[in-house]
Amino acid sequence: MTAVVRFAPSPTGFLHIGNARTALFNWFYARHHRGRFLLRIEDTDRARSTQAAIDAILDGLTWLGIDWDGEAIYQSTRLERHAEVAHALLARGRAYRCYCTPEELSAMREQAKAKGQPPRYDGRWRDRDPSEAPAGVAPVVRLKALLSGDTVIHDRVQGEVRVGNAQLDDMVLLRGDGTPTYMLAVVVDDHDMGITQVIRGSDHLTNTFRQVQLFNAMEWTAPAYAHLPLIHGADGAKMSKRHGAIGVDAYRELGFLPEALRNYLLRLGWGHGDDEIIATEQAIAWFDLDAVVRSAARFDMDKLTALNAHYLRIADDERLAGLIAERLGETLDEAARRRLIQGLAGLKQRARTLVDLADSARIYAAGAAVPIDAKASALLDPAARTMLLELEVHLASAPSWAAADLEAAVRGFAAARNLNLGEVAQPLRAAVTGRLVSPSIFDVMVVLGRDLTLARLGAIDP
Ligand code: GLU
Repeated sequence: MTAVVRFAPSPTGFLHIGNARTALFNWFYARHHRGRFLLRIEDTDRARSTQAAIDAILDGLTWLGIDWDGEAIYQSTRLERHAEVAHALLARGRAYRCYCTPEELSAMREQAKAKGQPPRYDGRWRDRDPSEAPAGVAPVVRLKALLSGDTVIHDRVQGEVRVGNAQLDDMVLLRGDGTPTYMLAVVVDDHDMGITQVIRGSDHLTNTFRQVQLFNAMEWTAPAYAHLPLIHGADGAKMSKRHGAIGVDAYRELGFLPEALRNYLLRLGWGHGDDEIIATEQAIAWFDLDAVVRSAARFDMDKLTALNAHYLRIADDERLAGLIAERLGETLDEAARRRLIQGLAGLKQRARTLVDLADSARIYAAGAAVPIDAKASALLDPAARTMLLELEVHLASAPSWAAADLEAAVRGFAAARNLNLGEVAQPLRAAVTGRLVSPSIFDVMVVLGRDLTLARLGAIDP
């Protein structure tokens, strides 16, 4: 049987990091099993679903490199089909119309609360004749749930979980206005889409019992289930914004590469020995549900950052140059782009995010007038400027522009003035890069080339 999975986000906000992991696990599962990964937008809550949220989800998935098979399915287009199934259940005697008024329902809730019990519907219309229906109440349709026995789920992650059917009340399938509830829509869609395996967060586990009852009532085969562990913050507390519970778009903005986030999310609840760095192709080959852990996963920003630094170091320089130009908000001319690509090997060693990298890349993106920061400017006092003027002349006659020769030239210049290397190289760096920290200044000068280096030096007139 071909594996068919789905990612079913409700478009009420951004693509949250937890949802991104759910999407990714489904995607890895489908790709590993050469199955299908479907996308279903659960937009039946018209008041809370927005086009902006739908776009954020589609963009987030695309950026992460998670592609879905076929067109996305919008749940809101399937309302008639959902209602049809509710009516089929009525016809089978597995559902009934309930004419309770809102007052009755709230009285029921109050009573349960007074007894310290969870609110539940008492089934009062289960066997009542509809001829007794009060006038003017639009009935809801409820499932006639089983009163005895257990509902059992053999969850691929959580193991066997069961609930006594007596615990589950007769849930609403169709509201008074004829619209389906979430429970009904999910089951009908999972069935119609031929889903074989549901993979979702363990916050959905309690829904699953009700959903399985609904599958059984329709005599449909329920999919297999796998409920993923929760994601906690690094301190073990419930994940909040402070812990990194932000949208995928925010990670992008913070300068993370999609492959780093993908690798990181994969490790949140799934493992392969001690492997930390797992390329996507490798993950597809290895991924299955057996290695998903049951205990909560901890989101660790430092680990994500370390992975990002790794992926930056191995990323293609042409691609990085494009991403950096985007961040700098400039179209680089061809010479600047070439400098940047050539200089990236040095810059990458220090960068942890694209934000760092773009900032350090300014030393190559700029022309003769490189911006001088406050620290560099403080170092460039009149004495330093006078010395740099002499150094400029000295370098202008350097026989070659190779790093080793430039270093020898600067060392010779320093020795002749009884200065140590740093006393010359630091002002030189300040003038040429506008900063006090950069890759080796001689390497930087090679990338900049003779003309641009001398032009920057010349721009620092005493
Ligand atoms: N729409 C639900 C959510 O965003 C997921 C439903 C499901 O995976 O079954 O939480």
